[in-house]
Amino acid sequence: MSKNKSTTKKYRPPIVTFMGHVDHGKTSILDAIRKTDVQGSEYGGITQHTGAYQVSYKNKKITFIDTPGHEAFSHMRARGGRVADIVVLVVAADAGVKPQTKEAIGYAKEFGVTMIVAINKIDLPGADVQKVKQELAQENVLVEDWGGDVVSVEVSAKKKQNLDKLLESVLAISEFLELENKPMAEIEATIVESKKDRKRGVIVVAVVRSGTIKVSDKVTASGHVAKIRSLADMSGNRIESAGPGSPIELLGFKNVPNVGDVMVAQGSDLAELAADRDRVQVIGQNTKRVVSIVLRADTKGTLEVVQESLSELVSSAVGVTFSIKFLKSATGEIVASDIELASSGDGIVIGFSTKFSKSVKDLARDLGITVKTYKTIYDLVDDVKDFLEGSAVSEEEKIKGRAEILKIFKLPSGDNIIGCKVLAGSLKPNMRVAIYDKNPADIDEDYAPLYRGNIKKLKIGQGDVNVVGKDNECGVLLKPIFHDAQKGLFLEVPYQI
Ligand code: GDP
Repeated sequence: MSKNKSTTKKYRPPIVTFMGHVDHGKTSILDAIRKTDVQGSEYGGITQHTGAYQVSYKNKKITFIDTPGHEAFSHMRARGGRVADIVVLVVAADAGVKPQTKEAIGYAKEFGVTMIVAINKIDLPGADVQKVKQELAQENVLVEDWGGDVVSVEVSAKKKQNLDKLLESVLAISEFLELENKPMAEIEATIVESKKDRKRGVIVVAVVRSGTIKVSDKVTASGHVAKIRSLADMSGNRIESAGPGSPIELLGFKNVPNVGDVMVAQGSDLAELAADRDRVQVIGQNTKRVVSIVLRADTKGTLEVVQESLSELVSSAVGVTFSIKFLKSATGEIVASDIELASSGDGIVIGFSTKFSKSVKDLARDLGITVKTYKTIYDLVDDVKDFLEGSAVSEEEKIKGRAEILKIFKLPSGDNIIGCKVLAGSLKPNMRVAIYDKNPADIDEDYAPLYRGNIKKLKIGQGDVNVVGKDNECGVLLKPIFHDAQKGLFLEVPYQI
């Protein structure tokens, strides 16, 4: 990037993100800084998750990226977008260095991002700051009183202790980094959140690194172009333009750009940086077992984190050969069409930090589709892992369709309509079925069926229907005809993943 000295009047605000092991207090520190009336803070009171925010401390601005976590950050970096200038490594004083602490350290080192250590939870009786410092030294992170040059601050998010010291350290480091302020340079902004809102359209939160973004500018990110319809600061106030270091919310994209991607002016030299990357659709090579997933998450950022975590799961699995096929990945609530898609693609629906209505839940039950929602990535990954390995799927969830035969109606044509009650899952036309003389719940895998064939038609009353769910009665026409159908037999749609 060319240095445009003539426009360099001062330094721009540093862009800061938090990393560290889960539960060590990243979110709490971010929230505490956001809420605390630190001297001169202009933004006290904003508590909701905004993607990014800015505080003013001692008349200097600091921009914080409120990422969904460590993995999101790594994902952003993997995409090539330079996200933060400074990483605050959060280590809980009562827990010390943990695997994700190490990952974060490796990461900051690999990409040359300056690190500040925040030793958190010093209010706890079990806090042992010296031990933390020693463990950090073992990871080659030498804090100042261990003879190194890494700044460390002991804080308590809970007691709001030493947060001012942390902010001071951030400012000191950022001065040292001499982050050039280039408001006249080409626009370069990093997308930190993006989602589609039913009313407002695509909402993008970005942090401007250089240049000045204005309303009506034409920009591009992830291969999508946009004319900026409106700009707002992180308090929601409309603004006309935003310069380096500013977190902004903007409207104007029709498609949701990827978190971590760079947003640049359309047609600029930097535009190639914003080229879309191939989106992973099928993860894994050996497709002996394919698990199809319809994925929903609250934001684009979390969506990508989930996809990435699942792909890691596939690539790190030992002894199990499966692949994951994303039938769909989208932001927002789980809707009826997701269930139908999962049903037609033999898949499951996974939601992350999202919800679904009762009617969607009922539909899922009727169609025999597994829908699960999660609030933490760890639970999700653990569960999917179990699912892939076949251990967590309850017997009922494994059933695609099971019905008990109640009555046979002979038709003049010679055909017969088999009157059934659906016990689990659902029945649909064209499904393959097997008929057993015992309840399939009680038989071994190799127990031979009396019949194998297909559902030709499904009827409720006189009318044809496309699906019949659990607890409902229906008429089934089979192809070929099963002449020996009788009350007391069971009809089963074999489960395959
Ligand atoms: P994250 O996963 O790193 O974002 O961690 P959180 O901010 O969600 O914090 C995890 C848990 O630690 C929560 O229950 C917090 O209330 C608690 N916690 C965070 N900071 C402190 C602190 O300074 N002192 C104490 N005692 N608890 C804290």
